[in-house]
Amino acid sequence: MFKNKVFILLGTNLGQREINLSRAVMKISEFCMHDPEISSIYETVPWGFESDQLFLNQVIKIETTLNALEILERLLKIENQLGRKRDGKGYQSRTIDLDILYFNSDIIQYETLTIPHPRMHTRSFTMVPMAEIAAEFIHPVLQCSQQEILDKLVDKNQVKRYNSAEQRKD
Ligand code: ADP
Ligand code: MG
Repeated sequence: MFKNKVFILLGTNLGQREINLSRAVMKISEFCMHDPEISSIYETVPWGFESDQLFLNQVIKIETTLNALEILERLLKIENQLGRKRDGKGYQSRTIDLDILYFNSDIIQYETLTIPHPRMHTRSFTMVPMAEIAAEFIHPVLQCSQQEILDKLVDKNQVKRYNSAEQRKD
């Protein structure tokens, strides 16, 4: 059966952030052929809106037989199960956000789904974890590697590796 290689960005800035990430990874694993490859967790300042609540971000790579729209449907369901509320007013705090970054090297433009994710290459909170687990992967539109995109980024929002053991000591 054909295996699709898919990168997903996880983001959370509400509630028990680390638990939100691990619960999302567990639920995503249910439709994967084996355990996802995961990046480190990074702590980042909110992008596009003001909030004191910092985000945790992580990128995972999965292999699945599902197609892109089926994956989106599963991800939206998991967001709901983890208590995500949308009020339709643009960027806001959320318990979990799950975005599809890449689906193989496909370029997809549906009404509800754009892949590669249209803003990913401008955001250090996406490109830092992406370059950590797939530095050489080529962006199918920009035709450059994740590392090259990261090196050229002008978004200098702080992205710090998150160490939960250290946080607990504080
Ligand atoms: P954002 O992630 O931009 O903050 P939302 O998580 O509320 O916004 O997503 C809104 C919609 O974006 C989703 O319902 C989905 O239809 C659409 N969308 C378009 N492209 C993607 C993608 N690559 N990954 C996830 N959602 C996407
Ligand atoms: Mg989203």
